[in-house]
Amino acid sequence: MDLTYQSLAMVSSLLSTGDATSVELTEACLNRIDSSEPRINAFVTISSDLAMQQATNADIAWQNWINGKSKQKPSPLNGVPLAIKDVICVSDIVTSAGSTMLKDFVPPYDSTASERLRDAGAIFLGKTNTDEFAMGSSTENSAFGPTHNPWNLERVPGGSSGGSAAAVSAGMTYGALGTDTGGSVRQPAAMCGVVGLKPTYGRVSRSGLIAFGSSLDQIGTLTRTVEDAAILLQTISGPDPKDSTTIQEQPPDYLEMLSSSDNLKGIRVGVENEQIMGSLQPEVENSVKDAIKMLNHLGAEIVPVQLPHTKHALEAYYLIANAEASANLARYDGIRFGQRCTGNNLWETYINTRSKGFGKEVKRRIMLGTYALTAGYYEDYYLNAQKVRTLVQKDFAKAFSEVNIIVGPVTPTTAFKLGEKMEDPLQMYLSDVFTLSGNLAGIPGISLPCGFDQSGLPIGVQLLGPACGEQQLLTVAHIYQQATDWHKHTPGLEH
Ligand code: GLN
Repeated sequence: MDLTYQSLAMVSSLLSTGDATSVELTEACLNRIDSSEPRINAFVTISSDLAMQQATNADIAWQNWINGKSKQKPSPLNGVPLAIKDVICVSDIVTSAGSTMLKDFVPPYDSTASERLRDAGAIFLGKTNTDEFAMGSSTENSAFGPTHNPWNLERVPGGSSGGSAAAVSAGMTYGALGTDTGGSVRQPAAMCGVVGLKPTYGRVSRSGLIAFGSSLDQIGTLTRTVEDAAILLQTISGPDPKDSTTIQEQPPDYLEMLSSSDNLKGIRVGVENEQIMGSLQPEVENSVKDAIKMLNHLGAEIVPVQLPHTKHALEAYYLIANAEASANLARYDGIRFGQRCTGNNLWETYINTRSKGFGKEVKRRIMLGTYALTAGYYEDYYLNAQKVRTLVQKDFAKAFSEVNIIVGPVTPTTAFKLGEKMEDPLQMYLSDVFTLSGNLAGIPGISLPCGFDQSGLPIGVQLLGPACGEQQLLTVAHIYQQATDWHKHTPGLEH
């Protein structure tokens, strides 16, 4: 049995019965990384020694439980190899954020998300490639070279969590953490044919996440199945005294409802027709329409909804995200944070550090964001963008008073060619047009595989739910996934 393309739930059950060991799983992943990584570049750092050491410990914990020496059943993640996006701090491993600025930064502490995974006994295979500071939609803005899409090596994997999405899709790991500020979990998930979950803002602690747009950033998961996403979310979510924006209520049991039904009777699914009719690649449009038909076939009632202000979400998002980025990135001055490039005086040190440490896209964002916050322009740009944000939130609140879920495309096209949009930032920004309104509203969203285009590239469908509605969102997504097999295809890299 090839262990690598199994679901996380499957390998977890093999571990719990003693039918596989964590050492075997970890070796299988590291071998796959060894053979595919030169073509894909999904990782910035591979932590094989740590992974093997963790796997040995995890096996002892399972053995003790299986032999009855321990009464405490290990977590379902105990012994399961995972990967973590390189904007999320993992203690004692370089966390570069895809930037020269942080290429030697070794955090002395874990992010809350990675600490919770570590405590659950998960195995850390390494840190995955990302657009610099998570700014981008293709993983091409990384100081460590672009990641290639496992389905077609000349295509981008999407971004900014492209390394995580590619690693899951290529069978290098059973799951990965990503981050989603404007679509960076859902968009690469769609382009790599895997499941991408962005939780409600505040569901997962941002402590130890390198900040981009603090009011939008959220840690999410990339997995092969919806059930796997639920398992990971269960472990990483919940209140955290280190992040005052975390939701104070304990999260519900995300797995409990998952298999409670095999149909969607009583579920109202909203569709915004304008979105579907937009400038979508025809194959994307058809696959999303088929997914809607499938939801309907499974018993859901399809209801038209209107989200009139989401057409301005892109402009509002890029103003707010860049404004917050310009403030968050001010700390990288070579004195307090970041790789120092010394000059003849303090001013020159600042200039050299920031000129050499940041890449082109990050500089563009800092300049745009600073401009939007400047006295005299603030009202026209930042303040207006915040007003649009409120209107978008209200659109969703109204829609969710009528429906349980909203369905639509994740991306306008399948994975584009490497280099294709690098000279045209606006085109690049447009690839997030369907995902970023979810971040402005702070609501959860999931991207699910729903088809392939003519050249064999994966297509995703997006389901959005109301704030804190992950339980139902995951349940609907799981029911869809049980009835389809798009998520079972693999890119066939071994041939
Ligand atoms: N592509 C979007 C951007 O560049 C979203 C990034 C993200 O979600 N991290 O801002």
